[in-house]
Amino acid sequence: LWVSVAPITSDDKDPAGVVVVMYDVTRLRRLERVRRDFVANVSHELRTPIATIQSSAETLLMDGMDVGPIGVEFVETIHRQSGRMGQIVEDLLTLSRLEAAGEELAMQNVEILVVAQDVLERFRPVAQKNGVSLEIEVPEDLPPVQAEPRALQQILANLVENGLKYTPEGGQVIIRATRRDSDVVITVEDNGIGISPEHVHRVFERFYRVDTGRSREVGGTGLGLAIAKHLVRRLGGDIVLESQPQKGSKFKFWLPAHEP
Ligand code: ADP
Repeated sequence: LWVSVAPITSDDKDPAGVVVVMYDVTRLRRLERVRRDFVANVSHELRTPIATIQSSAETLLMDGMDVGPIGVEFVETIHRQSGRMGQIVEDLLTLSRLEAAGEELAMQNVEILVVAQDVLERFRPVAQKNGVSLEIEVPEDLPPVQAEPRALQQILANLVENGLKYTPEGGQVIIRATRRDSDVVITVEDNGIGISPEHVHRVFERFYRVDTGRSREVGGTGLGLAIAKHLVRRLGGDIVLESQPQKGSKFKFWLPAHEP
């Protein structure tokens, strides 16, 4: 049940009463659960056939397979697109698990620097290939945060991956972290193509992709930021975006610091 209460005041400011509105959201909740379960079930069922298509294409691309030059092109397309489908399905499963919220996260003290270095190692080859510099600026005396290490790693990885995707050659992506009161604030900033104001509030929605030439060209599922936002909230924080087209984007999230 959702309840909202508003006072009724007349001109002489004496409250004449209150209006109480109650919404029965049982049906809404049930629909939401049906949607979530449906997406999770379909994704789960699609996993195996997609993996089979992908591995069959892989086999056909092996040396000694006689598929001919035109055949190779088609098989490469099948391989690439089934890989993309597989990624969408995995992202959808991650999202439904997060939305179900039943799974307890194993919270522990996590050093931002350690997780950021892991992410940096993982993305260094892509950064080098794209000609984008990838750096970390995290003070040594930063307190650890209360988080689930894999969740934190995934949040940072999604943001860094985007930074690298949407930043042209010669640009940079920087991970920073600072203390703010009882939180640690972490930012992932790039000087890439940026996002215009009408899209800024929507990029965290499922499947939302800004339709720029570059987004179309680089591919992606449109689920990365939705997952990042769910994860940050599960860890007790929140995430915001500041961005200017052609200047760059700054994703900022915060998590509770561990007080010894
Ligand atoms: P995708 O798989 O498309 O990258 P995301 O949910 O991660 O999905 O991002 C949603 C959209 O937000 C992207 O398609 C892109 O248009 C935009 N976006 C995300 N990160 C950046 C960034 N660092 N710079 C510019 N645009 C971005």
